[in-house]
Amino acid sequence: MLFHMREMMSKGLKTTVKEDLDVSELFKGRSDVIQAGPLRVSVVVTGHDGYVTAEGELTADLELACSRCLESTSAHTVIPFYEQFKLGGDDPSEDDESDDGGDDDYVELPGDKLDLKPYLEESLLLFMPFAPLCDKDCKGLCQACGQNLNEHTCSCNNEKIDPRFAALKDLFKD
Ligand SMILES: [Zn+2]
Ligand SMILES: [Zn+2]
Repeated sequence: MLFHMREMMSKGLKTTVKEDLDVSELFKGRSDVIQAGPLRVSVVVTGHDGYVTAEGELTADLELACSRCLESTSAHTVIPFYEQFKLGGDDPSEDDESDDGGDDDYVELPGDKLDLKPYLEESLLLFMPFAPLCDKDCKGLCQACGQNLNEHTCSCNNEKIDPRFAALKDLFKD
């Protein structure tokens, strides 16, 4: 997914990227992501006078662990993608350090090569829910016996913290 900025810009080239990205490596070691991907990319990259835009949509099927009950929950995500790229150092007058997130948001590239892949991966990562839920009303697990409270209620008194959990807490201190 490499593009040459200067060529894209000078010729006003337009390319459609349709590709499946394997993103399983991105989530290695993350217990909240059971399965991810592939990331289906459908993005149009267009060269303009002075900049290159990439615009389109990313879709992915994710299997996440619910942050309350740990049951797997699948999510079909559709992520709108828009990024604007410029060549660095071209126009120092526009080199505004204070990025106030206006309309002229763009990524300044150090060289002629634009590799789209990391930006696509980043937008998936940013899109990932911080605490996924199988249902917004998920009751979670009982803190004492571990019972999935969506399935059954238990007879624990959940007011006090179970000593076994207190001990676990200590284990994770370091
Ligand atoms: Zn849940
Ligand atoms: Zn219980």
